[in-house]
Amino acid sequence: MTDILVVGSINIDLVVRTPRLPAPGETIQGEDLATFPGGKGANQAVAAARQGTNVAMIGRVGKDLYGDKLIENLRNNKIDTSLVRRDEAATGTALILVDAKGQNSIVLSPGANNKVVPEDVEAAPLAKPELVLLQLEIPLETVIHAGAVARELGAKVLLNPAPARTLPDELLANADYVLPNETELSLLSSEPVHDIKSAETAARSLLGRGAQTIVVTLGANGSLIVTKDRATHVPAFEVQVVDTTAAGDAFIGGFASALLLGLSLEEAAQYGNACGALATTRLGAQPSLPTREEVERFIAERG
Ligand code: ADP
Repeated sequence: MTDILVVGSINIDLVVRTPRLPAPGETIQGEDLATFPGGKGANQAVAAARQGTNVAMIGRVGKDLYGDKLIENLRNNKIDTSLVRRDEAATGTALILVDAKGQNSIVLSPGANNKVVPEDVEAAPLAKPELVLLQLEIPLETVIHAGAVARELGAKVLLNPAPARTLPDELLANADYVLPNETELSLLSSEPVHDIKSAETAARSLLGRGAQTIVVTLGANGSLIVTKDRATHVPAFEVQVVDTTAAGDAFIGGFASALLLGLSLEEAAQYGNACGALATTRLGAQPSLPTREEVERFIAERG
């Protein structure tokens, strides 16, 4: 029995620090290459697994060395990879340049992630998931199909509509929980989002399109729960921010895990806020995702 089945992306991030970003046609020297496991699907799977949740993943990596490395990484994080397939396409890769000011330039090559087809989701019943967690770094038709299959299985569906794009109502209507950040919410709703009030208005328009519960992550402002009956702002924890990478992934893994433990929406959002806040105090994506012990200690300390 799986608590959470993630249907999503698995990437390798290749990072080189350079004094400045190269101009077209230019070759410049950078520092040593650093490689990190990434992809929103894999990051959220790891975020949930670190909370002690049973997580399985459906996705694809290449038949290459990075594919081996990423599957090993998921296993090391206690994630069931038996439904992850090996594809002829190369493993999904993000080529990341970071300059001395910390600005970055990224080229994303989806590779095997683009080969995750609707048929891959037919294996979902094998995992017997309670909740299916979806993002948008695999083909949209697969995400839509996964929402429908989850619904048939009686599993809850949590959709993180990232990277930002517009979506058909068919997908929103199958989502029990939609968790966008402000940029994603604005694109999805075609409404400006710049504060809590405008976030509520934009979230309400998604409810009108069939979504059940919207939880907007608001960075340093915490999160906002919007349902048909109410809107509740859950303030963030104050922390010394080092790097906000993967704060959203940390929130989602924590929120979903807390819901499965039977916590209320407000408690789950507070738990997610704690996970997100802790992730911002550390460098990197997966290395910054906190464990359950760390989150519980942090919440106890903050009262
Ligand atoms: P994303 O990384 O997807 O853009 P957010 O920036 O909204 O997502 O961050 C996700 C969550 O992480 C927020 O809802 C909040 O709980 C926490 N968080 C992010 N930035 C901060 C911050 N500066 N201080 C405290 N918590 C933060």
